[in-house]
Amino acid sequence: MGKFIFCVAIAALIYWVIKKRPHKHKEKTKKFPDSIENMVSCAYCDVHLPESDAISSHNNQFFCSQEHRNLYTNSSF
Ligand SMILES: [Zn+2]
Repeated sequence: MGKFIFCVAIAALIYWVIKKRPHKHKEKTKKFPDSIENMVSCAYCDVHLPESDAISSHNNQFFCSQEHRNLYTNSSF
């Protein structure tokens, strides 16, 4: 009987410790920084870059630079 109470006490103590412990590890899994935003790839050279840095054209295509946009439009027409 004494052993049983001891086990319950240990279990209660473990439960209390787990409950009281701040969930620090949870904060590490925060959302990614803003730098990892929506990534697009250049239609000309296929390099990946964030959408905000990309140059978009009509028909939903993205380019890493104005130069590649010109090269792409020139080569396809
Ligand atoms: Zn490019």
